[in-house]
Amino acid sequence: MMASSKSNDSTNSGLQDSNSKSNDEEPDELCPGFINTDAFVKYGLGAVVSATKASTGLPQTGDEYDLYRSFPGFRDFCESQGDKLVHCMSQIMQHHGCRSHLRDQSKLTGLEERFDLVVDSNDIILERVGILLDEADGVNRGQQPVLPAGFQPPKIVVSSWNRTGSSSRSRTETFRLLHAKNITRPQLKFKEKVDNSNTPFIPKIFIKPNATKILPSYFTNKQIRKQRPEDLDVPAALADLIHQQRTQEHVEDMFAHPYQHELDHFTVPEGLLSKPEPQMSKPMAETKCSFIDTLEDLVALNEKLCKVSEFAVDLEHHSYRSFLGLTCLMQISTREEDFIIDTIELRSELYILNEAFTDPAIVKVFHGADSDMDWLQRDLGLYVVNLFDTHQASRALNLARHSLDHLLKHFCSVNSDKRYQLADWRIRPLPEEMTQYARTDTHYLLYIYDCVRAQLLDFNHGQPGLLQSVWNKSRDISLKKYIKPIFTEASYLELQRKQKRSLNTQQLTAFRLLFAWRDKLARQEDESTGFTLPTHMMNKISEELPREPQGIIACCNPVPPLVRQHVNELHLLVQQAREMPLLKAEVVGPTTKGLTTIKKPEVTMFGPHDTSRVPESDLQQCSSDEMPVKQGMLFSEEEDEMDVSVQNTCGLVATAKITQFEELETQNDPDSISVAQMKARRIIESFENPFRMYLPSGDVNISKNAKFDPSSKIFEISKRWKLQSIEQQQKELEAKREAKRKSKEEAKERSKKITEERKLAKQSYQESLQNVATVRQQAAEYAKGGGTKRERVASEIGESTPKPSKKLMKSAEKEPPPQEDFSPFDYSRSNLKVFAGTKPKDNTQFDPNRQTGFKKKKTAKGQKSNSGPGNRSMSYMTGKSERFRQNWPKR
Ligand code: AMP
Ligand code: MN
Ligand code: ZN
Repeated sequence: MMASSKSNDSTNSGLQDSNSKSNDEEPDELCPGFINTDAFVKYGLGAVVSATKASTGLPQTGDEYDLYRSFPGFRDFCESQGDKLVHCMSQIMQHHGCRSHLRDQSKLTGLEERFDLVVDSNDIILERVGILLDEADGVNRGQQPVLPAGFQPPKIVVSSWNRTGSSSRSRTETFRLLHAKNITRPQLKFKEKVDNSNTPFIPKIFIKPNATKILPSYFTNKQIRKQRPEDLDVPAALADLIHQQRTQEHVEDMFAHPYQHELDHFTVPEGLLSKPEPQMSKPMAETKCSFIDTLEDLVALNEKLCKVSEFAVDLEHHSYRSFLGLTCLMQISTREEDFIIDTIELRSELYILNEAFTDPAIVKVFHGADSDMDWLQRDLGLYVVNLFDTHQASRALNLARHSLDHLLKHFCSVNSDKRYQLADWRIRPLPEEMTQYARTDTHYLLYIYDCVRAQLLDFNHGQPGLLQSVWNKSRDISLKKYIKPIFTEASYLELQRKQKRSLNTQQLTAFRLLFAWRDKLARQEDESTGFTLPTHMMNKISEELPREPQGIIACCNPVPPLVRQHVNELHLLVQQAREMPLLKAEVVGPTTKGLTTIKKPEVTMFGPHDTSRVPESDLQQCSSDEMPVKQGMLFSEEEDEMDVSVQNTCGLVATAKITQFEELETQNDPDSISVAQMKARRIIESFENPFRMYLPSGDVNISKNAKFDPSSKIFEISKRWKLQSIEQQQKELEAKREAKRKSKEEAKERSKKITEERKLAKQSYQESLQNVATVRQQAAEYAKGGGTKRERVASEIGESTPKPSKKLMKSAEKEPPPQEDFSPFDYSRSNLKVFAGTKPKDNTQFDPNRQTGFKKKKTAKGQKSNSGPGNRSMSYMTGKSERFRQNWPKR
């Protein structure tokens, strides 16, 4: 159906009115039974939707499926239907000239291969669709309908149907991506730069309304938060050490849910558990709708919200042109009014809504709030106390479907049009169609809230149990913490495993290198990984391992801009992968057994068991039959070398640790260590990642293939075992033990020295801290006294500039430092500050506005805020204080 160039007609018309198609223009039938593409597409989509619905309705594997399967009737039916489907799929594949021997058992080894076959065919078909749509686009240019200024006609988004989507979202309509070319990146306007560093997320909150437990000092104490290590007037290594020590003190607070205590103690107000009289929403046409994009209006909105007993909230989000994603819009509906809030414009100000959002007496109604909770925390520093999720209610009621459009139809007889769900919500000014769409998401939600509550009570014979359970589930959702994607050595394996492709060593190496490249660049450029290099292209490149840069380009259609820009780097990565000895995973597979039976020399260092309490002599008898890899140890501290005194007193030898790193140590013969080396060592120490304990380390599983990937550590380790004979190993063991004894003595000396140096460093830090404080005080004093804007110090330029000059914007956009000699980044050796290091300005812990904070903001009453830098650490008073409202602290 996509092959018809006419399909573009329907695309263009979609924006205006998908029903009022120009049917009159096409008297000839497109194909039997269908007057035009629209009719055909409509029918086709209807069929697809009902098929999808039916398939999601089937019992799930591992769940009820096995039970059903034990009934012969069910089994036979499944088999006959399965055969039919496979036949049908084969025919479609044949039609498109793809390999199609899905049914031919002899040519296929299993499900995995069939799956690959289907995925490949899908790729081919989608590629054709893309080409044809492009072609059609070209043909039809000039016939585009009149569109609101600033955006392009919608394009049909063909999202991969292999993806298993969340069940809560139904795909009833053609999704259209309203794409606006040349949108200025909203990120450029952000007062607080986005933090894409490979470090865990720290809540943005710095003031906590409705607190029953005060906000930890980490968030309120500007001294801790504000000073980035690089701001201290001390050597970098020392600054980092200071910073690290400071943050370590606060680590628990930093990663806790700021409203954990309040939510733990939250009880649903009594009145909310009795049956309500559903209050029908006013018609949209009769409801006032305000677009909020100034602080003044936002404050006024907050005042309103604090006075109502419930309001509905929804968010719209954009994820393609940003690494972490951007919250673009917030819709709020009270019983009286609708509000559309520009969360791009007011990103740094929206935290003030916490006053209403965390008020336990006000119900916040969301539909499917899971992602919303993440986005609120991540971008706006907002939390919700007293959430009611209508999606959870729909589940509890066992309704046929749990999507919002279903509830709208079911309770409000409103046919919603989810076409804009995937629109580019960064577009400004927001087109009317999108505003209307966004409004519908919350406009009727309070009525739905009434209806489902009434039904939940009826359902349970008037008992509040079921309703209470929905409230409990909702509370669990509001307790969710945003987790930032963290890159680890194992990240690529996770994706690789999910894809269930078997790759040889070269291919796997390429995949690993490309994955790391993509992650690093996407963070740097603040683009999604999908924009940087879509996974299917990454697969194709790593499978084909093109010899020429041009071959890389050929793997990508369309070629992502960043791939084009960095094609030479990519080529080097592929070359590097090609240099690996070629091993087929399947062939080498059985030899693994041989590997594990060899007694390993490092037995005391390795082991699946915690050996830290076992005497040395015992350890030598241990043998392990698993690959002793502990992923978390890749970031192992070298500290134990230092703490010899402690180790000696306990009589312990070894903590589990990857010995690969030991080579680094032994090379550094302590005798020959120079002062400079000593310093370097200290610097490295100071870069220990304070967040290590929060890195995912549970997954110790290294895929089978990794063991055969010659570039992986585990491969080298296993190779070493294989090559060494047992005698050799024992000899080495002896020698090693001797050397260790020696080096321990030396290390003791060293550690003494280092303690000395640390003391010195601490001292100088104290001194310098005093200096820093006085400089800052002076600045504050000066600002207060003069009443004029303090001149920015050099380090702040470009950060607190409210409206960067064009030049600045440009350079900010193209900031990634040109890497001439690209050598792939070795994440395994990384301390995770590497990202923060290349772009130190992007650190959330530093907010230029907190420092200068002189931009005039109006309060609700239009007064000038008097919160200078001096009173920003004001403590928040529980309850709704007038003082709080009039003195919005600045961020
Ligand atoms: P909603 O709650 O339905 O308004 O969706 C909120 C945001 O979630 C949208 O702005 C999209 O960014 C995203 N979203 C919703 N549905 C989908 C989907 N099917 N696939 C990908 N993203 C989606
Ligand atoms: Mn939503
Ligand atoms: Zn929405």
